[in-house]
Parts: sequence; structure tokens; C-alpha cells
Amino acid sequence: VRRGGLSLWLACSLLSLASCGSRQASVATPPAAGTTLAYEATLQRDLSALDVKLCFRGAMFGGLTAGRAEAMTRLRGLRWLAPEPQALTQVGGRIPIAPAQRAGCLAYTVDLREGGSLSALVTRVGDNLVASPNVWLLRPLLRPLSLSAKLVLNLPEGLRASLPFAPLDLEGKLYALPDSVFAFDSHAAFGPFVEHVVDEAGVRAHAALLGHFSAIDPRAIDSWLRGAVRIASGSDGRFPAPALHVLVLPGGGGDEPFGSVARGGGASVLLFVPDSFDAGRLSRDWVLPHELSHLLLPFVKHEDAWLAEGLATYYQEVLRARAGVIPAQEALANIAQALRSAQREGTGRSLCDESRAMHQTHAYRAVYWGGAAALLLADVALRKESAGKLTLDGLLTRIRREDRMTPEYGARELLARMDALSGSQTFSALAARCEVEPFPDFEATLRALGADATESAPEGAELSAIRAQIFAPQAFSK
Ligand SMILES: [Zn+2]
Repeated sequence: VRRGGLSLWLACSLLSLASCGSRQASVATPPAAGTTLAYEATLQRDLSALDVKLCFRGAMFGGLTAGRAEAMTRLRGLRWLAPEPQALTQVGGRIPIAPAQRAGCLAYTVDLREGGSLSALVTRVGDNLVASPNVWLLRPLLRPLSLSAKLVLNLPEGLRASLPFAPLDLEGKLYALPDSVFAFDSHAAFGPFVEHVVDEAGVRAHAALLGHFSAIDPRAIDSWLRGAVRIASGSDGRFPAPALHVLVLPGGGGDEPFGSVARGGGASVLLFVPDSFDAGRLSRDWVLPHELSHLLLPFVKHEDAWLAEGLATYYQEVLRARAGVIPAQEALANIAQALRSAQREGTGRSLCDESRAMHQTHAYRAVYWGGAAALLLADVALRKESAGKLTLDGLLTRIRREDRMTPEYGARELLARMDALSGSQTFSALAARCEVEPFPDFEATLRALGADATESAPEGAELSAIRAQIFAPQAFSK
């Protein structure tokens, strides 16, 4: 009884800050099936560590772990608060919790020294701190079917948080954590930055500029964010995530930005931007549209990167043309120029093998653009066979509706499903060729689409109607 009383009190104080009194009756009844997590995280003034209290109820499936195993080395001061205050140690990269223990509260401190891979990154940018929730939100070893999680965030005065999920209160202190935060990576920042928030067609989009960008006028950030939502909505008219969250950091590879999209809590993008970029260039750039185009498919296994990257690479051009950011002919010319150069950059492996070996061979462009070629050919074939009734856009919408959110999907499974949905063999043929052909044979289709026609006279191209369907502004299927 004493154990239950203490954990119920803590659960109440953490879970229901705003409405504890009114919820006491329901909290006092036996818990329904499912798992409840209540976090209270307090950021230290010097940004060196985050102190977390976590109270749980329900199944922990044997213990707790971080979103990335590498983050477990950051834990300090691990201890039980309830049912009995006592020391707690991690075993084999996890915090063991006996299956019979269905409630408890523990505390831990997360060391926020700089380092970590992109999906568990902790880094300082001036007075700001980037620290992925993968690092500081410990979670059950398995993701429960039914999960309810809340976070109370205590920040030093003058600092704010930029998180992929929206706060429930005006002070930015209380959050309901969507299940996707525990299924996927996400990004987060803390600091004295100004956060830009807009609502575009019902999508909450927000961005924090971390660090100094001498050429970016902060007043242009709102319209850049609106544009990003519009571009990424160009497949079927809807933004492919619940929200858009962008952290803009100085950097990027020389003359181009570098981005990394995560799906936890919405679309959460880390975008490294070169100092030479102004807001206009940022608005026309392909990197953010590429990252957001990844969300048109469910999460794809890393070894099948050709499909995920091919799709994002194809759509980075298609969606910018549809949004009117670049002319259709320029999008097609970009595709043609990139395909013709990338086909010479492979190692001679089949596209599927190239994809599996990509991190050893660094033949990234051959994989990205080889995948883009495969999807362009499939999209054209599908539209041609069905006289425009079936499109890649339409299939992606239906695939997303079926998304189980976990686990990751294989390319073969997704392509077989696309064939089943469209009643065609286009995508299984594509999967078969991927295993044997080095780079799809795109030349004839590209020419028929009018890729080499001058801007003033592309109408003569054999597939000009299909080109118009694919690239024309707002020509997306419903
Ligand atoms: Zn990508």
C-alpha cells in the first residue's frame, strides 16, 4: 500500500500538473493495460547535464534503455526513488527492472558533453545546446502497444526548448510525448535562441536558428518555413508528418547544406547551413525538400537505401517544380544532368549491391540517383499503363496509411505492396532489376520526357503530357 501510495502521488504530480485534483480519482483506480511514463527533466544552468526523474506504471519489458545504446555511457547518479530509495546500476547497456515490478520512480543525470552520432548528437552552438531525446529520454526495452508519456521540463531562466512536439502550456513546460518519439529518432535544442513558429495549412512548423548566420534575415524565416511545408505537401496535398521542426546550425559541406530528418514527434530536421546562404537561397535549395520527401515512405532498412534515397532524390526535384520554386524544365534538366553523371560513379555492382556497400565504397551518388532513375521510370510506366489514373504519389499515400510505424520496412515488401495496390508488376520488376542491373537505363525515357528540349519548345516530346502531370505546379493526384 505504501509503495502504491508514493508512486501514485509521484505519478499524479508529474503526469497531471495542470489537472491533478480532477484526475486523482482516475489515478487511484487500478491502471488500465498499457504503460505510463512521466518524466521531469531539469537542465543545469551551464548546460552540462540534465537531471531526470522518471516514474512509470505498467510493463517495462525487462528494463529501460536510451534511444541509442551509445547514450547509456552518459548516465550518472542512477538510483531508485520509489518504491525504496536505493542505488541502481545498469547491466549490459540497460537498466534492469523485474517483470513483476509494475510501478516505480527512478532518477538519473545525463552527462551532456559534446559528441555522439547524428542520431544521438550532443553539441554546443554558441550558448545553445543540441541534445537528442534519444540521449535523455530512457524508455522501456520494447515499445508498449499502448503508451502514455508526459514530460515536465524545467529550464534555467532565459532559456527555451525547441522540441518536435508542441507544449501543452504557454510556458513550454509540459508536453505530451507522442508514441513516435519512442519509435524513431528526434532532435532537440535548448538555449536563448528565438524560435520561429508558423501555422501553414494546419501544420505547425517551427524552427530555431542556432548560432549566427550573417546572410540570413531572420524576418524571412517564417516564409521559408511556410514554403517548406508547401513544397513537402506537393505529393498528395498533405504534409507527410504531424508537424515540422527544424534546427538550423552553421555548417554544411562546403557550398551546400546538409540535413538529417527524424520522425519522432513529427518531422524533425537538423539542417546545417553554410554561412554564405541567405534566406532566398535557402528557400530554393533542395536539401530540406529532400529530407522531408523521405517521409513520403515509411522508415526503410538502411541496406535498402537505394529506395529511400532514390525516392527523396526524385521528389526533391519534382516537389520544388510543383511548388513553383523552380521551373519544371529546370527540375527535369537537374535530373538529367545528375543521372548522366552519377551513372559513371558506381563500382559496377548491381544497384541493390551498390546500396548495401554504400558506406564502404562511398558511391553515394550512384545509389541515390540510381534509385531516383528507377522510381522515375516506374512512375512514368505506371502513368502510361493506366492512362494517368495511377501515379507514384497515389501509391505513396496508400502505403503511408498502412504504415505500422515500426519496425523498419524492406524495399521488397514495400514494392510488392505497391504492385498489389496498383494491380501492376511495375515495382516487382524494378526490384528484380535492382539485383542485377548496375544503373537503370533511363536515357530513352528522359529524352521522351523532353529533358533535352529547349525551354521554349518542350511540347514536342513524346511523353510531354506525362511530364506535365509529374512536374506541373499543383498537378498532384488526390
Ligand atoms: Zn536522404
